[in-house]
Amino acid sequence: MNHKNTENKHFIFGGCDMVKIAKQYKTPLYVVSEEIIHEKINEIKKDFLQKYSNTRAVYASKAFLTLEMCRILKKEGIGIDVVSGGELYTAIKADFPMENVIFHGNNKTLDEIELAVKSDVGRIVVDNFYELELIEKVAKDLEKKVKILFRITPGVDSHTHKYICTGQMDSKFGIPLVEEILHTGIIKTQNSSNIELIGFHFHVGSQLFENTSHIKAVDILLKLIKEVKDQVGFKTKELNIGGGFGIYYTEGDDPKPLKYFVDPIMEDLQKKCKELNIFVPKIIIEPGRWIIGEAGITLYTIGSIKEIPGVRTYVGIDGGMPDNPRPALYNAQYEGVIANKIDLPKSKVVTIAGKCCESGDILIWDLKVPKLESGDILAIKSTGAYNYSMSSNYNKLTRPAVVIVNKGVDRLMVRRETYDDLISRDI
Ligand SMILES: *Cc1c(COP(=O)(O)O)cnc(C)c1O
Repeated sequence: MNHKNTENKHFIFGGCDMVKIAKQYKTPLYVVSEEIIHEKINEIKKDFLQKYSNTRAVYASKAFLTLEMCRILKKEGIGIDVVSGGELYTAIKADFPMENVIFHGNNKTLDEIELAVKSDVGRIVVDNFYELELIEKVAKDLEKKVKILFRITPGVDSHTHKYICTGQMDSKFGIPLVEEILHTGIIKTQNSSNIELIGFHFHVGSQLFENTSHIKAVDILLKLIKEVKDQVGFKTKELNIGGGFGIYYTEGDDPKPLKYFVDPIMEDLQKKCKELNIFVPKIIIEPGRWIIGEAGITLYTIGSIKEIPGVRTYVGIDGGMPDNPRPALYNAQYEGVIANKIDLPKSKVVTIAGKCCESGDILIWDLKVPKLESGDILAIKSTGAYNYSMSSNYNKLTRPAVVIVNKGVDRLMVRRETYDDLISRDI
């Protein structure tokens, strides 16, 4: 990773001077390092796709999606998963190969299903049987055969914030692992000429540092695959094991290389399938945060500095919860540096306050910084995932631009919103 200092004491990211970039494009500004995205994808290729046969990797686009991101992934041969008509539309407009698109979601609308079936997405991951009926009807009307997976709730708890924990039995996601329910669903697909069930999917949670949930869930799913083979004669071709691999945000985070998650699963797979007398399914992973999280930072300009003697120093920045809702949403922690004072000793502790009318709009509670002045540039790290994609216009703040940097070259990926954009849909 390219976080080196130079003589002029500025924060360098993707080979570019972040103080210059902040002046050139203005702040707040999302900056994405193409180099880090490629590093991550290379790790996926080396330690998963090339190491193990019959595997695929799909990027969870909800983490960060733009036309250019689609183009980067397309070039790399990585698929994408989408969870809405809007994400699907973005992929379509980027000319993304539709056979490499997986469509998720716990309550897909009829319109979304029609768009997905019409555009021949590679897989629809069916979350419930209401949706199965909709797909069946749409596929019949359009005379298509739709390839689907069933999303299963494997009933494992993962160690993460409860809002990003998705694999436990009591979840809004997926089909519960209850024999009668599942068998009925499988038999429905066997009797349908417009739906082809390919296999199963699970996603246990996000920002995980331990592999135990994935391993447990694979174990449960392999037993399920055996059971449905014996009881309803269904042969599973694919097992999609979701994403959730954790990244570094702050001290104490202990991110693991991808192989820590996939090796124990892949090493045991052949053996377990042999024992169970089932075919070895294709294994698909769906990392989102892991690919893009550390590849992104956000630049802000510091404005007001309010020192309450003996209490706290609030440092006001020109963004906040509209460009990064995660601290307010689930108490997410971040690290930041002062981009124009990267090598000065950190003698102060301050609180980074967003500019919204909410006391909860605080991006970092206690950040060690050098002595600050208004006009300094703050860079918050690891904001690549679930920042731009979760951004809003609260307080009618305009969304930041996104700049992509690579080996010292910068280019605009998404332009900054304008005031006119803010009212462009008002009647
Ligand atoms: C969110 C999500 C992912 C990606 O999660 P990350 O934690 O970003 O890796 C993968 N699969 C599904 C179904 C998801 O909902």
